[in-house]
Amino acid sequence: MEIIRIPKIMQETSKTHCLRGKSIGFVPTMGALHEGHLSLIRRSKSENDITVVSIFVNPIQFGHNEDLSNYPRDMEGDIEKLKSEDVDTLFSPDVMPMYPHGFSTYINVRDLSDKLCGVFRPGHFDGVATVVSKLFNVVKPRRAYFGQKDFQQTVVIKKMVEDLNMDVEMVTCPTVREGDGLAMSSRNVYLSQDEREAAAVIYKTLISASELMKTGNPKPEDIKRHMRDMLKTEPLISEIQYAGVYDSETLDELNEFKKQNLFAIAVKMGKTRLIDNMFVEALNTKL
Ligand code: AMP
Repeated sequence: MEIIRIPKIMQETSKTHCLRGKSIGFVPTMGALHEGHLSLIRRSKSENDITVVSIFVNPIQFGHNEDLSNYPRDMEGDIEKLKSEDVDTLFSPDVMPMYPHGFSTYINVRDLSDKLCGVFRPGHFDGVATVVSKLFNVVKPRRAYFGQKDFQQTVVIKKMVEDLNMDVEMVTCPTVREGDGLAMSSRNVYLSQDEREAAAVIYKTLISASELMKTGNPKPEDIKRHMRDMLKTEPLISEIQYAGVYDSETLDELNEFKKQNLFAIAVKMGKTRLIDNMFVEALNTKL
């Protein structure tokens, strides 16, 4: 596996692949790799000639009071995992070449960036959109792979790709979970043992809410109440940031079900912020 740290060298390498007619699949990550990341990599490998994975803890997507300085890092372990997945190239730039002194161009995907997680993480999606567009320009992928776990991220990036005529196919991959249903996340290592066990309630809540869809004739507000009530039974949840039923395109809260509905949750467990989501189809076939 080739390891590239300089953006210009990555760009030249990708240019050569493109000139030779090779398709590049790209998996952007912040490292501390787990099976969720590896599922994206395997999908990319199955669909492209070359797979490039980036590891870059992007400072501009973290708020001032967030966990940038202690974000989990394990470069040696990550390199071993990438080698055993037979990844072609790891692109792992330092912060300075990505954001040199005087860097002044930011991408703002309006409206979508301010909803759901954006309410609690102002500026986060500007940081994400900016770094992803930079990475796309450097890596020149034909396809890019993202996880459904960070659903809002996929919606924001898809809109950016469409609005800015970027020639990249976006592929969203299913959420990979632990045995008890907790969505895998690099941040799960922050959880104490008690919190880790308690965190299973998030997925259980999504499942229970989706079961409720099959009984009676609930409204989205009934699902929302059910989700919040269930989350509140877990004392280790210190804050419910949002829980409810949303439009998967606009990310607005729904008053009436559509055919496909996004059930989404964000909570804090102590200091750790956890998110999860699920698509649930309405049973009413008229929708
Ligand atoms: P991160 O390193 O957390 O920025 O994540 C890099 C990519 O991996 C993003 O597209 C995430 O949505 C995706 N990802 C993270 N966790 C999971 C998971 N449990 N299942 C599938 N994809 C994931």
